[in-house]
Amino acid sequence: MDGFNLDNYIRKVPNFPKMGILFYDITSILSTPTAYRYCIDKMIELYRNKNIDAVAAIEARGFLFAASFAYCMNIPIIPIRKKGKLPGVTLSKKYALEYGSAEIEVHRADVPKSKRVLLTDDLIATGGTLNAARSILIEGGAEVPEIFGIVGLPFLDYQKILEHTPVTTLINYDNE
Ligand code: AMP
Repeated sequence: MDGFNLDNYIRKVPNFPKMGILFYDITSILSTPTAYRYCIDKMIELYRNKNIDAVAAIEARGFLFAASFAYCMNIPIIPIRKKGKLPGVTLSKKYALEYGSAEIEVHRADVPKSKRVLLTDDLIATGGTLNAARSILIEGGAEVPEIFGIVGLPFLDYQKILEHTPVTTLINYDNE
């Protein structure tokens, strides 16, 4: 699959969901099995030898990649959800988004103590969501040795907020 051009499957939608935002739509990856398999295969290639015990993913698009990865690796999925969606005892954190603000939660009982959790999302913009997710996982006693995103927008400086944790993305976009 070397030479596969993932960019062909990421639609750039200007002014969505708000004026001034260029939205990177990954639904063409989902509707194209070769593109989807490319992403999951890459995740497995990147992390199969890194002693990953569980994968955490951000609602909702993050789940679509983490679930297949977890199935292939035979590891648990830790869903990180928007506030108010999880019925059990949760750890939560408020954070700023590229557009607006939000709060995320995880079931406290899902966070495995002293285990290595790969934290994932579909796209990393400011890194605010993943930073908040990382902090609730760590608060719950897990280790977060690596962060993964399909798409990265490094011009929004996510490397700074996520420093101390290696971040890998399959494709990056510059500010155009
Ligand atoms: P952030 O916390 O700024 O890194 O935002 C990451 C979350 O918001 C991810 O779950 C993305 O799916 C979504 N997101 C933020 N900016 C964009 C964008 N320009 N295009 C698509 N999704 C985005």
